[in-house]
Amino acid sequence: MVGGIVEALALVFVFVVGVAVLAAVVLFAIDRTQTADAIRRNYPVIGRFRSLFTSLGEFFRQYFFAMDREELPFNRAQRDWIKHAGEGKGNTVAFGSTRNIAIPGTPVFVNAAFPPLDDQYASSEPLVIGPGAREPYEATSIFNLSGMSYGAISKPAVQALSRGCKAAGCWMNTGEGGLSPYHLEGGCDIVFQMGTAKFGVRDDDGNLDEDKLRAVAAHREVKMIEIKLAQGAKPGKGGILPAAKISPEIAAIRHIPLGRDGISPNRHAEVDDWGDLLDFVGRVREITGLPTGIKTVYGGHAEYRELFELILERGEDSAPDFITLDGGEGGTGASPMPLMDLVGVTIREALPKVSALRDDMGLKDRIRLIASGKLVNPGDVAWAMCAGADFVTSARGFMFSLGCIQAMKCNKNTCPTGITTHDPRFQKGLVVEDKWQRVAHYVQSITKDLEVIAHSVGVSEPRLMRRRHVRIVQPDGSSVPLNELYPRYNVMTGT
Ligand code: SF4
Repeated sequence: MVGGIVEALALVFVFVVGVAVLAAVVLFAIDRTQTADAIRRNYPVIGRFRSLFTSLGEFFRQYFFAMDREELPFNRAQRDWIKHAGEGKGNTVAFGSTRNIAIPGTPVFVNAAFPPLDDQYASSEPLVIGPGAREPYEATSIFNLSGMSYGAISKPAVQALSRGCKAAGCWMNTGEGGLSPYHLEGGCDIVFQMGTAKFGVRDDDGNLDEDKLRAVAAHREVKMIEIKLAQGAKPGKGGILPAAKISPEIAAIRHIPLGRDGISPNRHAEVDDWGDLLDFVGRVREITGLPTGIKTVYGGHAEYRELFELILERGEDSAPDFITLDGGEGGTGASPMPLMDLVGVTIREALPKVSALRDDMGLKDRIRLIASGKLVNPGDVAWAMCAGADFVTSARGFMFSLGCIQAMKCNKNTCPTGITTHDPRFQKGLVVEDKWQRVAHYVQSITKDLEVIAHSVGVSEPRLMRRRHVRIVQPDGSSVPLNELYPRYNVMTGT
């Protein structure tokens, strides 16, 4: 009996080895004779392991090899902070910081010698946007959800975000893909984003359909309209939603035909210059009665100076109610690599420049500044407050709170966490009942820790933090206050 089993195993072993040898011989012949891959031609069979390890490395690097603070776009320390915040766990750490504060560009906040007592603890206050609109918006949260379209992200992701934002008291931006029933489901405040294709509010030729826009604005949850000119991940380029990803439901929400790619032009056809833009902002505000602003990427000082001068010339009523300033480091589902890597000034440079210009031209109380671009942790938000932002938005921070593992396959339909896929097999992993609470905890933790920093700095509200409250580490290891790095703009001399 035992002898029979040993004999069978030996036969299986010989068979497996035989098949392996045969396969190696065939692969050797294929590799040696093919001409497309030099490594495989010179190192047949073995050369194949190179591409295997390269693709496996993408997945395993973050677990076994990368240090806590070294990955991009977000490192493990940043992701873990969000994970713990979402789980409602405290984010206290033991022994000492793993952050290397000698790295140039690191912000270091300046503690007050005599901070307010604990019963005078810093707390965030609501702030009105668009006081001149028929329905001004009193926004309660400093930290809010940036634009992510239904279609780019899944139905359960939108549902969890909507419910989480409601619980946290922050707004949710629809992204340019139109307003879906899932955005409305949780009852949170909504910013409707109008992209260049005007998805959801367009006629058959892609022009603005005023009745459709009026219908969107009639939802009581919709509080503001954001006209998107550009986004940091792909300034100057519109998007394409492939026909294959356009379901009948998405086609109906966006008001586009089935069976054809959904193309976003690279800019709004009716907006050629700042004058046109102010006209368009005024038209949208008049139709909707809601605060109306723009989303754009900083492209240079002269451009913004021209915009603010034109506003002063026409009168403050003509101004956009807010400007969402997106840094070149912003992310997206899919973008050409040169645009993602190389185009668009970072928020760390753009925000202090634009806020200084706005403030010095007397428009601080008229135009709210909303900053976005990899601002996902409390320190990032606190820096933005010091640099002049009134609000901060993030998309990827919220994705991490939903469970994103930074697999970076958002442009495929294979997101392993169900966030950016329409495949029900993967969506099953995203349980709305659990995730909305993580979203809410994340926003609440950001706010709480932002207030901790504000309190330590010695102010009673995070928006009272100023440039002098943050110092930026320089290449020689010393630090310089932000107000020295970015001195205020002088309106009188134009310098
Ligand atoms: S898990 Fe990966 S594919 Fe899914 S949202 Fe996160 S980065 Fe994108």
